[in-house]
Amino acid sequence: MFKKECPWCSEKVSFKQLGSRPVEQKPKWYQFSRSVQVCPYCAGAVKVGGKGLWFLILAVPSFLSIIIELVFKYNFMAEFNLSSISWTLLALGFGGAYLFTKLEKLKNV
Ligand SMILES: [Zn+2]
Repeated sequence: MFKKECPWCSEKVSFKQLGSRPVEQKPKWYQFSRSVQVCPYCAGAVKVGGKGLWFLILAVPSFLSIIIELVFKYNFMAEFNLSSISWTLLALGFGGAYLFTKLEKLKNV
């Protein structure tokens, strides 16, 4: 499953397991009160970070081709024999997004 190491205690946690708690600091007058995600093992505050989201850009052409096919009934990836490249990019995009996403320590909250 989609599990990442906690930066505080090194336990593997899935995003679903992350709990939340209110921020300890009092919100300033211009801040909305907010809560932070916390590790279920050590209650350390974490945020989802890393460069993973950039990899989703690789999946964009494939998404576009799927949308275009749905709307116009025209598969331009197949038209140019790009179907396998399209699936490769899609897999790379999601694989990279998983590999390069990590949990980061959130301090002073
Ligand atoms: Zn932890």
